Amino acid sequence: RTPLTRLHGSAEIARQTSEDVQSLRDALVDCMEETERVTTMLTTLMDISEAQAGSMKLKKTELDLAKMVRGLSEMYELVAEEKGIAVQLDLPASLEINADSVRLQQVIGNLLDNAIKYSPENSEVFLRLFQDESGEAVFSVQDQGIGIAKEDLSRIWDRLYRADKSRTQRGLGLGLSFVRAIVEAHDGSVWVESEPGKGSTFYARFPKNHGTDGKRSP
Ligand code: ADP
Repeated sequence: RTPLTRLHGSAEIARQTSEDVQSLRDALVDCMEETERVTTMLTTLMDISEAQAGSMKLKKTELDLAKMVRGLSEMYELVAEEKGIAVQLDLPASLEINADSVRLQQVIGNLLDNAIKYSPENSEVFLRLFQDESGEAVFSVQDQGIGIAKEDLSRIWDRLYRADKSRTQRGLGLGLSFVRAIVEAHDGSVWVESEPGKGSTFYARFPKNHGTDGKRSP
């Protein structure tokens, strides 16, 4: 309800300052920004529901996950640099999976964004990609950030859940629910290992490349 409360608050301020055109304009800009936030939130909530219900249309293609991770790490370089965070890569030259490129970029982007957001200045974030013994692709994001308390570990994947310690950071508490829903819609799985005060590692495992029809191999 927070964005709607803020939207209401800005409108209320505008109503009370009807003489001053600049204040009215500022209040309108605030209202528009809050409206955008609500729209993003609703879109994400709808995406999560669709992905969970199995009704999300995934545009699956053969894509190189290693190339995608490299590209996204470059995109986040500036944000990381601003906090003095070095993003280290440990990736194979290429690793192909059958997945929806746009959705996977959102998944990796969300995990990387969180890693940077919940890390202290001058720390390191590691992006790794490898094939496990059964040939499945495993992507991980490790940070040296605030970590996650034991009692929060199972709840962070819930919609709108935010651990107490992270409330000072921007966010809606929808990123990880989205990540989980999308990865599971790809028949994959997610999990996390974390130690409060030391850091967290988030994992996403994707099934073997099943071919462009997306069917499971026998
Ligand atoms: P948001 O970051 O918008 O709050 P998310 O759904 O992405 O929402 O994450 C849910 C919660 O999980 C966060 O509020 C935070 O408490 C915790 N969390 C997620 N990623 C990390 C991380 N890398 N380090 C520590 N805590 C994290």
